[in-house]
Amino acid sequence: MDISYILNELGEEREDYFNAVSPPIVQTSNFTFKTVDAFREALGDEFDATLYSRGHNPTLNILRQKLAALDDAEDALVFSSGIAAITVPILALLKQGDHVVSVENPYSWTIKLFNNFLPKFGITTTFVDGTKIQNIERAIQPNTKLIYLESPNTFSYELQDLKAIAAIAKQRGITTMADNSYCTPLYQQPIKLGIDLVAQSATKYIGGHSDVVAGVLTGSKALIEQIFTHEFMNIGPSLSPHSAWLLIRGLRTLPLRLQRSFETTKTVIQWLKQQPQVDQVLWPFDAGFKQAGLAQQQMQGCGGLFSFTLKDSSLQKIETFCNNLKHILMAVSWGGHESLIIPSIAGIKATDYEQTNPRHQLIRMYIGLEDADYLIKDLMQALKF
Ligand SMILES: *Cc1c(COP(=O)(O)O)cnc(C)c1O
Repeated sequence: MDISYILNELGEEREDYFNAVSPPIVQTSNFTFKTVDAFREALGDEFDATLYSRGHNPTLNILRQKLAALDDAEDALVFSSGIAAITVPILALLKQGDHVVSVENPYSWTIKLFNNFLPKFGITTTFVDGTKIQNIERAIQPNTKLIYLESPNTFSYELQDLKAIAAIAKQRGITTMADNSYCTPLYQQPIKLGIDLVAQSATKYIGGHSDVVAGVLTGSKALIEQIFTHEFMNIGPSLSPHSAWLLIRGLRTLPLRLQRSFETTKTVIQWLKQQPQVDQVLWPFDAGFKQAGLAQQQMQGCGGLFSFTLKDSSLQKIETFCNNLKHILMAVSWGGHESLIIPSIAGIKATDYEQTNPRHQLIRMYIGLEDADYLIKDLMQALKF
């Protein structure tokens, strides 16, 4: 299916709503029935019925069709946050006594899910360096039911060979799930590589304007129905119709915004690497990146999120640099119109800082939609210590 068709037309029955170009926000909690028979049928099969907006809502259904098609998946569910799109399917797939193999250093709340939440239900996790397939294979136990991936992650950008890992998991009947927030379906389609479930924080590139928190999950119809019927309907992480409408609007410009972010990132990185104060830059499409070959093979493009270190990585120098920035904002999240910075040291106590720890030194930057020159000027003045 053409991306232009998916983003502009798919799922939109315009003749049903006055031929409006922009779809309606169906702001309702419930839907009526003319006969008991029709009502009974809907109550008996909520996965296929428009009955109550905790389950289905027409505005959300437009969004779901577009998101499923972008991933080349049979179906999609949308959630009130990205972490709900990760937590709810995992709760649906696993039961007491099961085991997970996860990549090390996935998204922070995903780590907390595996370390603090799942042990309450007797589910254990082994974290491995996913850059080597053997590490994943070696960690598999007889009770392993899920291999959890995030390629690349959003701080140090380690990749996994998605196709190879999916093949190993299929042989052993293990479900695979990947967080694809960094790439979006435009730059990576894990389902085409054999991954079973793909989660994304739609708060990031899909929303694109830092004004909505949402999540996406795509997969086979059977898996999505299983997740919907129990855990989704019981936990109730539904997205509001208004937020769904904002995501449909975000999707219209996704290719343009991604490309702009990608191009400006190349320019900014090229400049940063020439600065004597800058030591290392980490970005999957940088020629010097450790897994550059796999990145080029598996990804069609690269996001505007990268990290770098300063040659003088004292706590004071990192803080001064970040505090000096006038236009690049200090905040969590990414994927919006605005460029952002987050130093690793903001997440730890100043007294815990280890200058020799590579992860502690990292400064993560997200490139938004501003002009490259505007961002470079800000970085230039902030690097004058
Ligand atoms: C932000 C993020 C999440 C969580 O999404 P929310 O929408 O904040 O709940 C999950 N994974 C990655 C990689 C993220 O960047």
